Amino acid sequence: LQTWSYRGRFAPSPTGPLHFGSLVTAVASYLEAKSNNGQWLVRMEDIDTAREVPGAADDILFTLEQFGFRWDEAVIYQSKQHAEYAAALEKLVNSELVYPCCCSRKEIADSAMHGLDGLIYSGTCRNGALAKQGRKPAMRIKVPDSHISFIDALQGEIGQHLADEIGDFVLERADGFYAYQLAVVVDDEAQHITHVLRGADLIDSTPRQIYLQQVLGFATPHYTHTLIAVNVQGEKLSKTTQANPLDKTKPVLHLWQALDFLGQSPPQGLQTASLPTLWDWANSYWRISNVPALRHQIVRGF
Ligand code: GLU
Repeated sequence: LQTWSYRGRFAPSPTGPLHFGSLVTAVASYLEAKSNNGQWLVRMEDIDTAREVPGAADDILFTLEQFGFRWDEAVIYQSKQHAEYAAALEKLVNSELVYPCCCSRKEIADSAMHGLDGLIYSGTCRNGALAKQGRKPAMRIKVPDSHISFIDALQGEIGQHLADEIGDFVLERADGFYAYQLAVVVDDEAQHITHVLRGADLIDSTPRQIYLQQVLGFATPHYTHTLIAVNVQGEKLSKTTQANPLDKTKPVLHLWQALDFLGQSPPQGLQTASLPTLWDWANSYWRISNVPALRHQIVRGF
């Protein structure tokens, strides 16, 4: 078994067709992996079947292929990884870091304060949940009363106090769905990911993920959070903001636009080049240091 010094990944959620915002992350993670002689994997984050749009996963993969991306291993689907998530959760239950929580949304809202990512759970069930008839509990993890920090390759040092800013967070929802935070950590470990490059909208999740890696005994990858594309209202381009899907017949133009957004200053003439020529240019001239160290930037027309 070869150990790679660089294994990156792109992890789209199949909530709609590939749009410009996700293309930007795909381009950055791909070029950064390749310029480090690394591998690049694709993981389909279809864990939340309620948000999934039928056909979107295949459509995303088809678009990536049309645009000239090649992944180095078979695509992993989170919907098929449930046994892995269950095993990780069980490990944490056994070490008494996770507890069942039967609080209703209203009970949580009535006693919680606002944190960085939603409400900070007040901890009602932390010291033994009052079993409520017929209500299946969510599983929460106790967070430490300490600071977790990491050095982001673009954004610099990022620190968070999980107890004060996030609170005990859910790993398995009452409806049986595993939370994104748990799934991502388990998958990054299972796929031996050494470098995570993703949108800066996820930067506040990273300390939670590092904490989970620590308590599960997993390695912590290097992190790079790149600026995300927002519309003029400042909203992340996504299915909910009705971002236009990419035109599958215009891979070169869209890749050019992504490189431009990522601060790579592609020459104008490359817009009408062939796909191989565009990729040759990108592979030769990609510099992560040219990516603006911002959290987001407005794009128009998508
Ligand atoms: N599936 C997440 C998204 O589409 C990305 C998760 C990650 O890169 O860690 O926003």
